[in-house]
Amino acid sequence: MMTPTHAITGMFVLFILNSIVPEMFPFSGLLIILSLIFPMLPDLDGLWVEKMKDHHQTFTHAPLFWLGLSIILYLFVPIWIPILLLAQLAGHFIGDYLAGFSAGIAWLYPFNKKETSLFPLKKEMGDFPIFAKTKEDKEKRKKFNQEYYKQKKLLTIELISGLLGIVFFVIGLIN
Ligand SMILES: [Zn+2]
Repeated sequence: MMTPTHAITGMFVLFILNSIVPEMFPFSGLLIILSLIFPMLPDLDGLWVEKMKDHHQTFTHAPLFWLGLSIILYLFVPIWIPILLLAQLAGHFIGDYLAGFSAGIAWLYPFNKKETSLFPLKKEMGDFPIFAKTKEDKEKRKKFNQEYYKQKKLLTIELISGLLGIVFFVIGLIN
């Protein structure tokens, strides 16, 4: 799933939390900003991972890392922060699982590095550096994008996720 989609879908996750515990998760400016930032955190690994296809083989895409971090956070900050963090990250990982193209989610990373996804992964498509510099790599990136935009199922999932975020953001603001 694409990083902007993760951020927008964060509004849907905030809406769910708000429906369950409204006093803990109000649709306030702070909660909205955090709900846009938290679901993008796993994709920070794009800054240092060399190849597109490997960018989910890192601690930022490891649910166990965030679970551990949240337990530590729980000791020092108000409980709503680790709950919001975990809920937003769960949204990210589910999104990547549902709309994985060249990378899926290794739920038990680093203990089990096998990536899973709803649809078969096309690892070979992501065999280029995220920051492509050479002509050959740029060509591969172009092919990757062209191929991705042909994946109707993945695009539908991206679209539905984005729409859920926008619709429930508006509903949350009105209520
Ligand atoms: Zn991701």
